[in-house]
Amino acid sequence: MSALYVLALLVPTAFACGWWSARRAGVRRSGEQVSELSSDYFRGLNYLLNEEQDKAIEVFLRLAEYNRDTVETHLALGNLFRRRGEVDRAIRLHQHLVSRPGLSDAMKTVALLELGEDYMRAGLLDRAETLFSDLVAMDAHAPSALRHLIAIYQHERDWHKAIDHARRLEAMVGEDESGMVAQFYCELADQSRQHGARQDAREYLRQAFISQADCVRAFMLTGRLHAEDGEHAEAVDVYEAAVEADIAFVPEILPPLLNSYARSQQMERAERFLRDILARYHGVSPVLALTHLYQQRDGERVAIDFLTSQLRQRPSVRGLMALIDATMDKIEGEARENFLILRDLTKKLLEGQAMYRCSRCGFGAKAHHWQCPSCKGWSTIRPIHGVANE
Ligand SMILES: [Zn+2]
Repeated sequence: MSALYVLALLVPTAFACGWWSARRAGVRRSGEQVSELSSDYFRGLNYLLNEEQDKAIEVFLRLAEYNRDTVETHLALGNLFRRRGEVDRAIRLHQHLVSRPGLSDAMKTVALLELGEDYMRAGLLDRAETLFSDLVAMDAHAPSALRHLIAIYQHERDWHKAIDHARRLEAMVGEDESGMVAQFYCELADQSRQHGARQDAREYLRQAFISQADCVRAFMLTGRLHAEDGEHAEAVDVYEAAVEADIAFVPEILPPLLNSYARSQQMERAERFLRDILARYHGVSPVLALTHLYQQRDGERVAIDFLTSQLRQRPSVRGLMALIDATMDKIEGEARENFLILRDLTKKLLEGQAMYRCSRCGFGAKAHHWQCPSCKGWSTIRPIHGVANE
């Protein structure tokens, strides 16, 4: 995408260069000059599109020398420097551009936006924040500046400011940010819960639900508050509601839900609910939960029969592991040795396996995160469904 962005910046410049050099070289010789510059340009573009950025930068730098007034060339170069991680050079270039007299307001604000991105990349968040706030105040590129500010406040975990700016962005561009705002309230609720401010936590969760009525994380945190207060029957209601809100989160919801079923002595309800999930969810988590339940209530035989029948329908390495564990006690001698090897191999197979993947950027993770560590998307990390995963 950024190659295309740079391309979009450069194409008009190619024409501008042609025009400029035509004037300089005189009408008669303009043909040669234009073709020389244009071929340089297109060579640069070609390098850029082939991701040969070193060569592209070399070509464009030379062009910048030909034509120092071409702002677009500078902007494109700055963008290239930042992409290459040469943030200092990008900052110098954009600062130089911003300080140039006679620059139009429109171009100046573009350069300021770029400079803000340089500061973010360099980790100079204070400077970036000031710059983006100025742009918002000037109503110049305000939606982009607001998005950057929201990213900064998320990074600094300043959830109040993040909420405030997300709402401003919503009002400005009519984009629905309610899911993200609900996550910010969940962050505040969890923070309060950890500091023992339980009333504040409840209030933030109320706000999260106002923002997004089916926010799974808000359901889960509410369940957790109930469970911590010993209100396990209430916790069960809320955790079941979390499953209904988004069944994809079953692997996250089941462990605390099963604990609250047991603590509130509602194991029949647990079996009914797990059976119901089994019919509409294709991962292995409810199978393992039911196997455990049958093992406790009806003994090994019933549990193993259930597990083997399920594994035929949904092959799963985690299921196989549970089967090996359940069968191990009954086996002796050489067969037991073989089983131990099999168990070891299965364990190793699971160890290197990503269990979750971001539905937006493809980032693989072993544990669940509410915010993707890579693309910073919220609620985008989902369990991977497959033989070696969920
Ligand atoms: Zn991601």
